[in-house]
Amino acid sequence: MPNRPWRPARPVWAHRQLHLTPPAPDSAVKPAEKQSVAQPAGRHVDPPTLEIVLYPSPALRRMAQPIPAVTDLVRQVAARMVELMHAAPGVGLAGPQVGLDWRIFVANPTGQPADDRVYINPVLTGPSREQDDEEEGCLSLPGIRGEIRRPRQITIEATDLDGRRFTATSDDLEARVWQHECDHLDGVLIIDRMPRVDRMANRQALRQLEDQAS
Ligand SMILES: [Zn+2]
Repeated sequence: MPNRPWRPARPVWAHRQLHLTPPAPDSAVKPAEKQSVAQPAGRHVDPPTLEIVLYPSPALRRMAQPIPAVTDLVRQVAARMVELMHAAPGVGLAGPQVGLDWRIFVANPTGQPADDRVYINPVLTGPSREQDDEEEGCLSLPGIRGEIRRPRQITIEATDLDGRRFTATSDDLEARVWQHECDHLDGVLIIDRMPRVDRMANRQALRQLEDQAS
């Protein structure tokens, strides 16, 4: 993975709005059902059946919603996401990548099971001025890679699986993973952040993914 400025040359926010789709309506779900599953989208979620969704799935462009409470369902989803991340293998996986508009991601920069981490309702603060360019890939964009500039150091605040809020700061790969995964929660993909030359280089691979989906 890799680095570009915290504020990319391209107007990412404007770009993001072009692709943003509203959160899935949950009006069809009765309040009692919503409570029983305690999850933002109000859809039925069966954790063992979750799979990684690929570009250009609309799920990857939705703005994920805060998780109201850390329930058993949330813990089961997190466990499934960790399983999928290791199987891929990858260093991080976000809710939208398994088709859920939940603000959750899992990460493990080392691949060692002891380093599995779950971040619920994460918020990034205090990005360093210093930035790095590094190559990044994405489990939802197989075969696509590009240089992304990101702040070298950043702080994350999130809730863990026990419902406790925690804070951590990193200036290595972990910091980059946090930023990549938080982008997913806002519907932003590496193809939005990579330089034009990298987007051009990946044009064929992107078209292939689009063709496979249609
Ligand atoms: Zn990704």
